[in-house]
Amino acid sequence: MHAEMPPLLQAEKIFSGLSDYQRALSGHMDWLRGWYSAILNWSDGGGQSDAATACPFEEWYEGASAGSALGGFAGFDLLGELHREIHQTADCITDRAVAGQTITTSDYEAMMALVLAFGTAAQNLEREAWRTLATVDPLTGLGNRQTMMTHLVSERDRAIRLKQPCCVGLVDIDHFKRINDTFGHATGDKVLRAVAESLRGAVRPYDILYRYGGEEFLVCLPAANLEAGIMVLERMRASLNVLAVADKAGTPIPVSATFGITLLSADLSVEESLEQADQALYDGKRQGRDRVTVYRGDQS
Ligand code: GH3
Ligand code: MG
Ligand code: MG
Repeated sequence: MHAEMPPLLQAEKIFSGLSDYQRALSGHMDWLRGWYSAILNWSDGGGQSDAATACPFEEWYEGASAGSALGGFAGFDLLGELHREIHQTADCITDRAVAGQTITTSDYEAMMALVLAFGTAAQNLEREAWRTLATVDPLTGLGNRQTMMTHLVSERDRAIRLKQPCCVGLVDIDHFKRINDTFGHATGDKVLRAVAESLRGAVRPYDILYRYGGEEFLVCLPAANLEAGIMVLERMRASLNVLAVADKAGTPIPVSATFGITLLSADLSVEESLEQADQALYDGKRQGRDRVTVYRGDQS
């Protein structure tokens, strides 16, 4: 059921993808400059020139389609098509120059139109990458807190409109400070990443998970009543109990978390519902941790 989940976004991969991309773009611009001066030289009767350099963009593009984070973005295919068209058009114009034919204004205009469209597509792809980076928590690849509130408000509106329940769950790793103190901060980070991955594997495809704070996560469960929500959270809790993160010596580090859950309500703001989930979580910590606790108002 979880197989269709896209992989976690890795901010570092997008960052390094962006710098490779910028290098490939500037290589393409170098090629373009060289090609223009070679063609102008020909048109001026100077004959063949060595100014044209190889374009590294296609090689980058093939590699990026295979594995780079940028390969998954919407504008990627268009960019590749425009790049190929630029080179095909350039080759046609070059062939004509070699054959001693005149290069016309409309040849230059056709090339210019493609170059401009390519520039716009390149900017759009870069903007998409930066926009994604702004919504993602760099350590875990989950959605960050900034995007969470906007999403929760719209999920609450949708639940009211469709008269469907929607649960929110808060997750707080148990005694995480001890993990940091015992194994070091870097291992703590490794545990956080593994927890994020494990929680994500346990939710339904349409549930959304965020990094809420340091060692806290939030899950939004649309179309789930409390009973269904508790089942999902129990599955998440169980997934952590079998998590096998090893310390530097290879010894497994036991990990557990406490979960608080409540329903979003038409009578409450999202912030008030989150306070309820936090209250339930706090009750779970008091009761001994490693459990799912439901907000029950005055009865809790
Ligand atoms: P409890 O079971 O009551 O939740 O105890 P706890 O130790 O998990 O809670 P506490 O709030 O005392 O400690 C949370 C720790 O999480 C303290 C903080 O240094 C650590 N932390 C927060 N963000 C990060 C992070 O990004 N990486 C690492 N390694 N540690 C972090
Ligand atoms: Mg905490
Ligand atoms: Mg904690």
